[in-house]
Amino acid sequence: MRRLTTLAIVAVSAAGPAGCAGEAPGTLTASQAALATTDTRSIEYSGTGRWFQFGQAANPTLPWPAFDLKSFSARIDYEAPVAQVQMERIQVVEPNRARPTPVAQRVVQVVSGTHAWNMAAPAGAAPGTEPAPQAQPAAVEERAMEIWTTPHGFLKAAAANAASSQAVEGGSEVTFTVGGKYRYVGRINARNEVERVQTWIDNPILGDTPVEFAYSEYRDFGGIMFPARIVRTQGGHPVLELSVASVTKNAPADVPVPDQVRSFAPPPITVTVEKLANGVYYLKGGSHHSVAIEQADHVVVVEAPQSEARSLAVIAKVKETVPAKPIRYIVNSHVHFDHSGGLRTYVAEGATVVTHEMNRPYYEQAWAAPRILNADALARSPRPATFETFAEKHVLTDGRRSIEIHRLAGNGHNDAFAMVYLPVERILIEVDAWAPLAPNAPPPPPSPFAVNLYENIQKLKLDVRQIAALHGPGVATLADLRSMVAPATATR
Ligand SMILES: [Zn+2]
Repeated sequence: MRRLTTLAIVAVSAAGPAGCAGEAPGTLTASQAALATTDTRSIEYSGTGRWFQFGQAANPTLPWPAFDLKSFSARIDYEAPVAQVQMERIQVVEPNRARPTPVAQRVVQVVSGTHAWNMAAPAGAAPGTEPAPQAQPAAVEERAMEIWTTPHGFLKAAAANAASSQAVEGGSEVTFTVGGKYRYVGRINARNEVERVQTWIDNPILGDTPVEFAYSEYRDFGGIMFPARIVRTQGGHPVLELSVASVTKNAPADVPVPDQVRSFAPPPITVTVEKLANGVYYLKGGSHHSVAIEQADHVVVVEAPQSEARSLAVIAKVKETVPAKPIRYIVNSHVHFDHSGGLRTYVAEGATVVTHEMNRPYYEQAWAAPRILNADALARSPRPATFETFAEKHVLTDGRRSIEIHRLAGNGHNDAFAMVYLPVERILIEVDAWAPLAPNAPPPPPSPFAVNLYENIQKLKLDVRQIAALHGPGVATLADLRSMVAPATATR
C-alpha cells in the first residue's frame, strides 16, 4: 500500500505542467492542493535538534548560544488560532567558555488569539512547585507569526489575505500582508512544497527583524506531507534547527485561555530612586536597574535595559531627580538585548554611547535597519549615534568626579563586557556577573561569572565598599560577593 502511494506521488510529480488536475506545478494553488491545506485544520509535529537563545550572543560577532533540544513539540490549531510549543532543552557546554553548569529547562509557550502565556512555576518558587499560567502579552506578535509561517499556515494565510504570486525559476514567490502590517514572502518549488518563508517582527535593537524558515526533506508522515527538516533564523543567526520525527494531522489542539491570563493587566513601569552617595542615584524597578551619576553640568546614566518604554520612565525620573542637566552619556555594560534594548532612546536624547569597542560596529549596523513595524523616538527623529569606546578602560570626568569604566576581562558571560567604578565613593556597578540574592534565598553554587568579577576587582585593586548590581534586590557589599564566590577563591 505504502509503495503504491509513493508511486502515485512520483507519477504526479513527473507529469509536468499538465499534471495535477491541470494545475502548473510550483504555483500557490498546486501547493495548497498538494499539502491538502483545506483539509488540515490542525497539526502536531515533534522532533529534536537545537534551539538558540536569541539576543544573548557571547559577543557581537558570534551566533546566538546553542541549546540541545531533547524534545520539541508544536500543536497548532489554524482555525482557533492557537499554538502550543513545548521544549526540553539544555545549554551546550562550549570549551574555553566558563559558564555555570547548565540546567535542563522545560518550556511551555502558548498563544491563543490575542493572548499569550507560559506554563511555569512562579519566579522564586521552591523547586517542584506546580507550573501555572504566566501571562506574556509581549509574546503575542512572535507566537502568532509562528502559526502563519508553518507550511500549512502560510498557504492558509495566503488564501485568506489575497496573496500575490509571481513565477520565479522553478516555482513561484507568494507575498501577502496580515493585518495591514506583517509582510510574508514564501517560495514554492516545483514539487509544490513551501520551501522558504520570510517575515519581519519588531525588536528594540534590530528594528524590523528578518525571520526566515527553510523547509526541506518533505515526506509523507502517515497521510500528511511535511518537511522533515526545519531551520529558522532570526536576526541573521539560527534560532531553531529541528529534525521532525512525527506529524499528526487534525489532532485536537485547542487550549482555553486561563482566567488569570484573560484578566491580566501589565503592571505599570516603575522607577524608584535610592541615593547611594552625593549625586549617585540607584534607579530600580522591575527586573533591570540603572544608575544616574550627576556631574557638574550633565548626567551620566549607566545601563539602558529592555526597551524604549523602560528608558522613557528612567529618563523622566532622572530629569525629576537632577533637574536642568542633560544626560550626556549612556554607559552600556554589554550587547545582550535585555541590556541594550533601551539605548536608542538615549541616542534620541542626544547622549553619547559608551561601550566596549567590539560593540560599536554591531550597534551601528543594527540601528541602520528599517523600523516600520514600530518606529521608536530615534526612527521618528533620526540623528547619528555618537560613541566613546574602549578596549580595557575609559574614564569620564567633569574634573571633580571620575567615573571609571573597566572591561570585565575573561568573563564567560560576555567578551565585550564592562563594569563601572566610582573611586571616591567606592561604588561598583555591575550586571550579569553577579546578582545579590533575595533575603533567605538558598545560595546557589559559586558561579564562574561571579568568581571572575571578584578576580577582576582584586586584579584592578578596586577598593569596593558598595556593589550596585543592576539585577537583584538591592545594594550589596564586597563581603557579600566574597561569601558567594568562596570557596572558589579561598586559595587565591
Ligand atoms: Zn547578559
